[in-house]
Amino acid sequence: MRLVLVGAPGSGKGTQAELLVRRHGLKAIGTGDILRAAIRDNTPVGRQAEPILRQGRLVPDRIVNDLIAEVFRDPDQPAAFVLDGYPRTYAQAIAFDALLNLQFIKLDAVVHLAVKDDEVVRRIGSRRCCGGPNCGVCYNLLARPPKTDGICDRCGHPLIIRDDDREETVRRRLVEFHANTDQLIEHYRLRGLLREISALDPVETIHANILKAVNP
Ligand code: AMP
Repeated sequence: MRLVLVGAPGSGKGTQAELLVRRHGLKAIGTGDILRAAIRDNTPVGRQAEPILRQGRLVPDRIVNDLIAEVFRDPDQPAAFVLDGYPRTYAQAIAFDALLNLQFIKLDAVVHLAVKDDEVVRRIGSRRCCGGPNCGVCYNLLARPPKTDGICDRCGHPLIIRDDDREETVRRRLVEFHANTDQLIEHYRLRGLLREISALDPVETIHANILKAVNP
């Protein structure tokens, strides 16, 4: 399976990507995760991206295109994957198409997890992520709380609210998401790859709908 997940922040892309990894052995490729790791490791890309992530803005296309090209040009390029958070603009989609063509890789589907803005704000307000080094696992206080209040199940570090999860940042990210994504979605609709799925259903229902949409 070779999938792209498209959806507003908080639409549940990360959760669905995780299920696809656990149950179907896909490799999850998330530009947000790659960028946060670069910031943690204080690489040149990380230093450039850090203020942009803090403000909830999009990192320039060139930077994320290069990060993704590195993943797919690797001799160990993933055979089965789910992309979470890339492509995020029309220009990224065009660059990604070219990269996949060059590597003779065909996408099976682009899944759009559709959700209204107010629901996104409500959901992200209850998100807490692990602040520990090399972890970053996220929980939802309503839908998927940690076993112990405020503590990461996986590594025991305290949970924090990520800067880019604060309400004013989320609202800004949503404006940016809509400005960039309409054309991207239209592009994949025209190519016959787009599958629209409601992000309001329970996690398991969405997972089943994704599988049905990819293998009808
Ligand atoms: P995410 O974890 O996918 O919500 O991404 C967190 C942040 O990383 C975003 O708010 C952007 O600042 C940046 N980012 C992640 N993916 C991309 C992308 N494809 N294009 C531009 N910026 C990105």
